[in-house]
Amino acid sequence: LRKAVIAGNWKMNKTPEEAKKLVGAILPLAKDAGCEVVVCVPYVDLFPVLEAAKGSSVGVGAQNCHWAPSGAFTGEVSAPMLASMGVQYVIIGHSERRTYFGETDLTVNRRIRAALDGGLSAILCVGESLEQREQGITSELVAMQTKIALGGVSAEELKRIIIAYEPIWAIGTGKTATAEQANEVCATIRATVASLYGSSAADALTIQYGGSMNAKNAAELLAQPDVDGGLIGGASLKPDDFAQIIKAAG
Ligand code: 13P
Repeated sequence: LRKAVIAGNWKMNKTPEEAKKLVGAILPLAKDAGCEVVVCVPYVDLFPVLEAAKGSSVGVGAQNCHWAPSGAFTGEVSAPMLASMGVQYVIIGHSERRTYFGETDLTVNRRIRAALDGGLSAILCVGESLEQREQGITSELVAMQTKIALGGVSAEELKRIIIAYEPIWAIGTGKTATAEQANEVCATIRATVASLYGSSAADALTIQYGGSMNAKNAAELLAQPDVDGGLIGGASLKPDDFAQIIKAAG
């Protein structure tokens, strides 16, 4: 069966010194976990976090990568650079990148391609705004985001993709999707992937829920048949809360 993956998205939090401390508290949580544990950290924290996580079962990820392998792109970081450090994962298309940094479905697709070409696994984020949910276009929108992002991705490469369903209205708001809402959209994503790659590839795909997942609501969300893990923001910065979520996934 597909693996459950609990990934922390630290967003723009923690200095390298603070990161060392936080990952030190997370390492023991992953030891006997029944799921895979990943931390996606700011670029400047990658080196200390990779050092600390060496030999452990904690996977390390970045939060974005550029679509070119190298070149005149001031301020950007490429997938091959990340891979050369030992980074395994990269979040692509987070709604904060789409909202604040002009990311579109097309640039998301280019970055997915770059991540795969660079040897990384990608956590692809999709999800609707409150307005889009109220308009009743959630399924169509999420299916479209998924299709465009996966353009040119082979069935073999799909094995290095995780999809995170993150309703924008649930991110950092304390307003979680109900377990039914989360499962419904995750099932839509799986059906979309099945239409592109076949049902066995879709059945093997890990689909996470993200958006105000916490120690209290994790168990119910993770018990849903199409929810295979979580992408956790705020609660991933608190080791006790993160521990509860990891336990709920195991
Ligand atoms: P919160 O868990 O803080 O709502 O953030 C979710 C998220 O955006 C993870 O990528």
